[in-house]
Amino acid sequence: MAITRPKGTKDIFGNQAALWRYIENMAHETAAVFGATEIRTPTFERIELFRQSVGETTDIVQKEMYSFTDQGGREYVLRPEGTAGTVRAYLENRLQDLAMPVKLYYICPNFRAERPQEGRYREFHQFGAEYFGSYHPTADAEMISLAYLFLSKLGVDDLTLRLNSIGDADCRQRYNDALLTFLRAKEEKLCTLCRDRMTKNPMRVLDCKNEDCQAQTKDAPVPLDYISEEAMEHFTGLQKNLEILGIPFQIDKTIVRGLDYYTRTVFEFTSVDLGSQATVCGGGRYDRLVEKNGGQPTGAVGFGLGLERLLLILRNQNKLPEVDDGIELFIGHMGEAGAEKALRIADYLRKHGIVAITDLGGRNVKAQMKYAHKAGAKLAIIIGDSELESGKAMIKSMSTGKEHEIHLEAIPNYFGLH
Ligand code: ATP
Ligand code: MG
Repeated sequence: MAITRPKGTKDIFGNQAALWRYIENMAHETAAVFGATEIRTPTFERIELFRQSVGETTDIVQKEMYSFTDQGGREYVLRPEGTAGTVRAYLENRLQDLAMPVKLYYICPNFRAERPQEGRYREFHQFGAEYFGSYHPTADAEMISLAYLFLSKLGVDDLTLRLNSIGDADCRQRYNDALLTFLRAKEEKLCTLCRDRMTKNPMRVLDCKNEDCQAQTKDAPVPLDYISEEAMEHFTGLQKNLEILGIPFQIDKTIVRGLDYYTRTVFEFTSVDLGSQATVCGGGRYDRLVEKNGGQPTGAVGFGLGLERLLLILRNQNKLPEVDDGIELFIGHMGEAGAEKALRIADYLRKHGIVAITDLGGRNVKAQMKYAHKAGAKLAIIIGDSELESGKAMIKSMSTGKEHEIHLEAIPNYFGLH
């Protein structure tokens, strides 16, 4: 029986895989110029990590975690987001002993049990970065500029950077009180989940995906009107730095983001070319999270950028780069001696970095040429007894069909080798 892949997942191969590699390389290069280093954490973590870090009343923890119990009775979750695991690893490996701020980045799959649709999958990939050890707004600005440089290098157009500040824990109580008063008046019109969240964590009602709830909370009080003077100063500092960096932004007072750990800065990059899943990158500051996981108070800021959504934007903007599998030469053969020579030449070329393929199926010349064409080889050559005798063969351009004679010994030279 044929078994299909799980809903909301993708197989990536061929040109698509080359495209992914191109984007991933760009992510590595971009992070590197900021002095960030890569971190790879496990694909699964203890469930408590996400309950504690992401928050009990978030969509992720309440509805979207792929959890399982292992043979030893321990409860684990397939990573739904990258920050919690990075914080755990930062503390567990004592990375705070490194030069501060510690700058980390990752490219990895995340898993969320959501309803699959365009731009929303059950396994998706993020390029993320996290800085630990700075409370200063220049760190927020640099984090944004890292994401911005990455997107710019890929040629993405028409992005909007939306910026907000949701203040600190101290400002939160006053804001929560105001929001709860507002929500109480609308209580009957909210979904059951929101009614439950309202008293536990009123801000979570604001990122409910239910359209009726969204309509009800349209005019809700916004955190920015309740933030402390220090938080406002920090927010102004960030804006000043973005101006220096020439990164355009809009202040969007409605952004709160869906994870509980954020403090002060929150931001999103959105694109009109994404339809309803408009956010390609989301991030912000999380100054309490390291402490919450047992560390010292540590200023921290980060982002997560969805690579599937990025690919959708690139496709919709006709910005997908041409990727070339780059098969330079097909070396076909006739007869045993020809096969041996073909193998020797291919081996030599490959050891010197030239992409060369041969026939692996004992096919006749016509079938071999058909294969060379279908495989996308740029050039083809066939070596048989007469070629071995004369030491020469015809090399054929597969795109134009033109041929010319070449000395067998001159093949490496033809590809710039000596
Ligand atoms: P959304 O509001 O679209 O559900 P989110 O707030 O849950 O996004 P984050 O947890 O902040 O998203 O993740 C950051 C980025 O990861 C998103 O902006 C998006 O590009 C990507 N992302 C999140 N969930 C998915 C998903 N299910 N499928 C594909 N990409 C996703
Ligand atoms: Mg979500």
